Amino acid sequence: MMADIQAFVSNAVVFPDETCPAVIQVKDGKIYHISRHSTNVSAFSKDQVVDCEALTLMPGIVDSHVHVNEPGRTAWEGYNSATQAAAAGGITTIVDMPLNSIPPTTTLQAWETKMRAAKGHCWVDVGFWGGVVPGNSSELRNMVKRGICGFKCFLIHSGVDEFPSVNSAQVEEALLELSGTQSVLLFHAECDIGDTITDADPSEKYCTFLKSRPQKMEELAIEKVISLCEKTKVRCHIVHLSASKALPMIRAAQARGVPLSVETCHHYLSLTAEEIPDNATQFKCCPPIREACNQNQLWEAVRDGTIQQVVSDHSPCTPDLKQPGEMHFMEAWGGIASVQFGLSLFWTEASARGFTLQDVVKNLCVGPASQASLHHCKAALKVGHDADFVIWNPTESFTVDTSMIYHKNKITPYVGKTLKGKVYKTVLHGKVIFEDGMFCKCEPQGTFVFPSVELMSNSKQE
Ligand SMILES: [Zn+2]
Repeated sequence: MMADIQAFVSNAVVFPDETCPAVIQVKDGKIYHISRHSTNVSAFSKDQVVDCEALTLMPGIVDSHVHVNEPGRTAWEGYNSATQAAAAGGITTIVDMPLNSIPPTTTLQAWETKMRAAKGHCWVDVGFWGGVVPGNSSELRNMVKRGICGFKCFLIHSGVDEFPSVNSAQVEEALLELSGTQSVLLFHAECDIGDTITDADPSEKYCTFLKSRPQKMEELAIEKVISLCEKTKVRCHIVHLSASKALPMIRAAQARGVPLSVETCHHYLSLTAEEIPDNATQFKCCPPIREACNQNQLWEAVRDGTIQQVVSDHSPCTPDLKQPGEMHFMEAWGGIASVQFGLSLFWTEASARGFTLQDVVKNLCVGPASQASLHHCKAALKVGHDADFVIWNPTESFTVDTSMIYHKNKITPYVGKTLKGKVYKTVLHGKVIFEDGMFCKCEPQGTFVFPSVELMSNSKQE
């Protein structure tokens, strides 16, 4: 009778309110039963049991900000390599950004093209963000109905010409189109403010690049987002917040009930401007990594819940566009590749700052899953949820080496860094897919994930 059940047992299972021994039974890829404060698996045969012993078992991580770039820029990154890197890092769901693939995900048809490219190549589950660009507002509701997690737009040049930015009127048009759905609009929140550097600023220096993207650019954009969000009452979300000076207005908006959520990235919480050498273009991203004092403020915002999620913004490119050590900051592609190391990056800093394993689940699992409307099946150890787990050792350290990187282009600012928290097993839909540094011999098991249907439920004029 119990033959089709698997039992995962660990002395340290991370629940929202405690970490304790537990047995988690899995049936048909979903959590079937949970026994807390027990490690008794005597009812099961040996081959039904996955014994994690002292290793920590936690919900699989959801990284809601990953640029896969396939099709069109598959030389930068593709589904196979991006999702293998994710799996190796304990991530069981990624949500793919609508750019820098070609076509970008700005129409239902383009999204179907992307799903065809991804099919059969995903080692973890994949959800999708659509894009809002000038003139595509008539596509949005159909994409919501088909199961898009939400949409992203840029208030400044996106870095690729096929994904143009939108002005306030275009944002408002998109928000009105989305009103009545439970969908969300994500903002790359930087605005142009004209030249902030001169020819005299040396372009090999990081401080020049930093000066070219001051906090003011983020502050102005976020002010705009808050006012549009408040006016339309449609969920809005700030991706990759770097500027701590924007935190007071975000806190004030959230306090008066504006439906605004915020993410920051591992690089803003782990790296500082002060440590970036000349021409170290592997550290370049937009908005930029700022000073240590700014980083402390971001951590405080993670602590007090102003920021609800921490993600990678994994955005690699081919080496010719970065040329670390040679290219100048102002010419190099802006984007940091790191999807594989998110858990360890976060935990290294967070544990030193007094955060708990519950905080890890809150910021790396629950936050991103809720933002992408995937919390009905992901990010929690609850009966009926997908049996996606990361099994890891929070006290073990390792040093990042190029040979262990699964993403396609290995340039990353983390090579040589010693991080705390090592992933031992990744479990997707109840199946161990990655174990002790190796992928299990199987086909990619990832599926596409969609928000629950209630996204359209209180929508008008259907
Ligand atoms: Zn991004």
